Amino acid sequence: MSAATAEAVVERLRATFNDGRTRDADWRLAQLRGLRRMLRERETEFADALRQDLGKPALEAFVTETAIVRAEIDLALRKLRRWMRGERVAVPLALQPARARVVPQPLGVVLVIAPWNYPLLLLLAPLVGALAAGDCAVLKPSELAPATAAAMARWLPRYLDPDAVAVVEGDAGVAAALLAQPLDHVFYTGGARVARIVAAAAAERLVPVTLELGGKSPAIVSDGDPLAIARRLVFGKFINAGQTCVAPDHVLVVAPLAGPLVAALRQVITDFFGADPARSADYGRIVDERHFDRLVQALEGVDIAAGGDHDRATRYLAPTVVRDPPPDSPLLREEIFGPILPVIAVADVAAAIDRINAGPAPLSAYVFTHRSDVRRQVETQVRAGAIGINACAAQLAVPGLPFGGIGASGIGRYMGKHGFDNLSQPRPVFSKPTWVDTFRVAYPPYTALKSRLLRWLM
Ligand code: NAD
Repeated sequence: MSAATAEAVVERLRATFNDGRTRDADWRLAQLRGLRRMLRERETEFADALRQDLGKPALEAFVTETAIVRAEIDLALRKLRRWMRGERVAVPLALQPARARVVPQPLGVVLVIAPWNYPLLLLLAPLVGALAAGDCAVLKPSELAPATAAAMARWLPRYLDPDAVAVVEGDAGVAAALLAQPLDHVFYTGGARVARIVAAAAAERLVPVTLELGGKSPAIVSDGDPLAIARRLVFGKFINAGQTCVAPDHVLVVAPLAGPLVAALRQVITDFFGADPARSADYGRIVDERHFDRLVQALEGVDIAAGGDHDRATRYLAPTVVRDPPPDSPLLREEIFGPILPVIAVADVAAAIDRINAGPAPLSAYVFTHRSDVRRQVETQVRAGAIGINACAAQLAVPGLPFGGIGASGIGRYMGKHGFDNLSQPRPVFSKPTWVDTFRVAYPPYTALKSRLLRWLM
């Protein structure tokens, strides 16, 4: 994409924003309804695209992508007018009579840069926030999920105001061309390396950013039924073949439970995907060869307790469990982002917490326990974007909860009202009648009486 094309796209959206139509609640609601209709009428087309890009089963695509966006839309449709009203703020006596309000304003033109792993959810959930907030949006889907990107480019303009929402397909070069345009916000989801490039480009123009990143989300196993825990871990880890930002990256299990947990994981993998997961219609594939090679290399020299088999031609890597990888293993040093689950024995929960807090803050941290003291210990001591107790990744499916990281796992949050707020300016409006001028007491020339009065009032 040339700089001129990027400029033309952003200029077109800017003209739409400036004509004022996006300020109107009815326009915003109509866009949200259009998006909802698109998801309903084109569900098959998007499911096919997701299967093509990631081997994603249709039901998985519905549960982990479409249904979450739909719930976001429904919440916004129900609450938008209330969100737009803003709120009154109490005015101190010294400024009375007067009114003070916070009235959310749209920001303008927002650029959304999305990754490939949940290419529908992570492009459209930020868009729901943008439309609700009254912004125009340029959407840059990931080139690593080209079928979904093409479906977005094809269908979105037919269901939404095409002068307010533009889809631009392409790679890093296209993202760079868009980042060089005058924007009002950049919403980026992806890895930390690119996040630094995006944030630096935005900083050049003092454009605010939301960065939704990843990290090594741990799952602590303290106590409980190994089989029940294994089911939740296997579901959270191997959905989308482990390519989920909030998947449990690794398990830190108290030592006596390690053996039974590994045995239970092995059994549940077979229960879910059969003896040969390569033949299961319910198990995804690695997005490309680069990621496939990275994951297979990470398995060299480790103790594989389940899975491990792979096929480069189909980018299949079995759901794999690894016991206690050596400290220099890439499985412990980098975000795994694939279907490999290291199970690491630790002395106790405190040791697990120390280990987590010694590294960069993850996007989520999970704990499996029935004990309220352990729950409290994890909630109060672990630094992470979100906490899940006895469940992995499910926090994403609760529309009212904010989603986002802390520290290395991201900046800013969205979903529900948090998504609306993230892409709005909370603008203060102060208004005072003129029939009486109580400010007179603060006007020069200053006198002893004014001083006494003001000190009493303020
Ligand atoms: P990716 O490679 O698809 O990159 C993301 C986007 O950045 C793409 O649209 C890509 O075109 C663009 N991009 C790449 N290089 C660029 C550059 N130099 N300048 C500007 N834009 C550029 O995705 P990825 O980074 O492989 O995604 C995986 C990571 O994302 C993991 O770390 C994962 O944890 C994280 N993630 C986070 C969330 C979340 O919501 N917090 C969700 C999904 C993934």
